[in-house]
Amino acid sequence: MSGNPYSWLEQSLETIHRADWYRTVQTIQSRPGATVVLEGREVINFASNDYLGLAGDERLVMAAAAALKEFGTGSTGSRLLSGHRQLHRDLEEAIAFLKQTEDAVVFSSGYLTNLGVINALVGKRDLILSDQYNHSSLKNGASLSGAAIIEYRHCNVEDLKIQLSQSRQNYRRCLILSDSVFSMDGDLCPLPALLELADQFGCMLLLDEAHATGVLGETGAGCVEHFGCGGKQLIQIGTLSKALGSLGGYVAGSATLIDYLRNRAPSWIYTTALSPADTAAALAALKIVLEEPPRRIQLWQNVAYLKQEVQRHLPNLKLLPSESPILCFQLSNAGDALKVGEHLKSYGIFAPAIRPPTVPTSRIRISVMATHKLEHIQKLVEALTALGD
Ligand code: PMP
Repeated sequence: MSGNPYSWLEQSLETIHRADWYRTVQTIQSRPGATVVLEGREVINFASNDYLGLAGDERLVMAAAAALKEFGTGSTGSRLLSGHRQLHRDLEEAIAFLKQTEDAVVFSSGYLTNLGVINALVGKRDLILSDQYNHSSLKNGASLSGAAIIEYRHCNVEDLKIQLSQSRQNYRRCLILSDSVFSMDGDLCPLPALLELADQFGCMLLLDEAHATGVLGETGAGCVEHFGCGGKQLIQIGTLSKALGSLGGYVAGSATLIDYLRNRAPSWIYTTALSPADTAAALAALKIVLEEPPRRIQLWQNVAYLKQEVQRHLPNLKLLPSESPILCFQLSNAGDALKVGEHLKSYGIFAPAIRPPTVPTSRIRISVMATHKLEHIQKLVEALTALGD
């Protein structure tokens, strides 16, 4: 056989273009915040996961700068070789304190956390039950583990129970996987029911708190605190890159679980430790989460205000059911979603179109921040109103 073995790449890209699924990057030219400079123009930022507005906060910047000065740029090796610093341990203890768990361990990203933890916990003789709308990192982690995978219908406890009744007994271990806040819809998983089923069928339960940490619950501990499920035998995963404004991921749980993961999670053992600057920034953010509840309160007030204004001025705009700062509305196709995204940008609003294959139906995703002002939200509603029907 001869010819170009890569010719299929161009054909594949053409197919992506034809479906309006082609992805491009947009350059932010300022510090993250409620407003940012996007390709030369100041816009109101409804596109970030920086829910508490901490990624550009001077205290995080100063903490990162001090760590850079003291410890340099890279951590130079994996945690088990030359990469470990006291800062990592301080951060892990702060996470365990927030989460009220015995221990925690930090990874280099949330994505790597999910890959590593799932692979360490299950293998060929095991079963994974995964919500159909789970994040890509959970889905990929599940595939890589070699376990049998059954996707249950989104947040559908009945379906999960049927699948467990039919299949659980055929496997050694069973792991249920769920996002706590679904990142492209904004709804919450039925955590109390998931815990009950995990208990009934002898399953481990891994909850991805990426979009809930710092956001949900009285102290910002996440969905677990929101539902009052703390202390249960749960594996909690999350990221340091959203409300905590830094980079990295974590697992919080029992001391035995964390000890086991430090010995068995490949994406923790075989990768370079989190950089000192990112670690210090996340630690500073956790301190703010614990000490400044008004930030979180402001975030929820902003969410309530946006929902109220949409209801008042845009009665025909159907937001997807959401119990988080993520508010979405669907469009009939990817092309329309792109057009709406562009329209909003022309009004100085940055709220991107999210298209397949990330989501089954194209949509605009609006992400509210604690640092948005009322006039930012009013401007968004004005821009949406100008869209007409
Ligand atoms: N889980 C969920 C639910 C996420 O939304 C994300 C990030 N989009 C991740 C995990 C991955 O986290 P990170 O960005 O830290 O890799």
